[in-house]
Amino acid sequence: MDVVRDVANIWLREMEPTLTRYLIFTVGLWLLLWVWLGPWLKARKIREQTPPGRQLVTELLFSLRSMAIFATGGVVMAFMFRAGLYPLGELANGWGPLWFGVSIVAGVIGLDAWFYWTHRLMHDPRLFRRFHRRHHRSNNPSPFTAYSFDVGEALLLFGFVIVWPMVFPMPWSAMQWVMLYQIVTNTLLHSGYELMPARRDGRPMLDFIVTTTHHDLHHAQAGWNYAAWFTWWDRWMGTEHPEYHARYARAAWRPFAPKAAPVPAE
Ligand SMILES: [Zn+2]
Ligand SMILES: [Zn+2]
Repeated sequence: MDVVRDVANIWLREMEPTLTRYLIFTVGLWLLLWVWLGPWLKARKIREQTPPGRQLVTELLFSLRSMAIFATGGVVMAFMFRAGLYPLGELANGWGPLWFGVSIVAGVIGLDAWFYWTHRLMHDPRLFRRFHRRHHRSNNPSPFTAYSFDVGEALLLFGFVIVWPMVFPMPWSAMQWVMLYQIVTNTLLHSGYELMPARRDGRPMLDFIVTTTHHDLHHAQAGWNYAAWFTWWDRWMGTEHPEYHARYARAAWRPFAPKAAPVPAE
């Protein structure tokens, strides 16, 4: 019975931060962008249609299941930790705040590569139906699409959390910050609003960051734009949608665009 209680305690301890982040950032961003700021952000909306409420409720339920899967993965990790499979984390715990920051940045870069390649794999016709169809049921995404996954996709994403600390000396709690960055940006990518301001030439201010338009195009036309955090892999592998920048320019805010010349008086 002690084992059951132990597992239940670890599961609840793992579920708590994941669910808290989700409630604050995913539900919070939905409230902020879709409910409160929606009327002021009309020009930033990528698509004319808004998904029906039914879709949002379904996505929310699948997201809760994904988070339960992540917590179960956390239980497996706790036992792996006890078995001594994470010596690098123990080592890095004493390397100070600078290494802590480096670990977060390296973790996000590692997650980006992991996601790009596992995402491409899930688009293989032999895997798509079982691993990735649920996520693409949301042709027009909402903030709740962020964790709307099949079981296989949730396991694949969590695979990064299990594997990365084995190969990279990361202080134990740094992964929580990587996951915080992951859920905030993941929610923004599915929010339906283009919030990255444009440069003078109409391109994204930070063109190496995946914008909401970039990922929205993946939902509209799978086969392009597999990355979720940085545009590097899509550009290196030639999988960025050829119309990406034109689509981005349609919804983007252009604070530095040249002013239109005044119409001369008659
Ligand atoms: Zn996909
Ligand atoms: Zn998506």
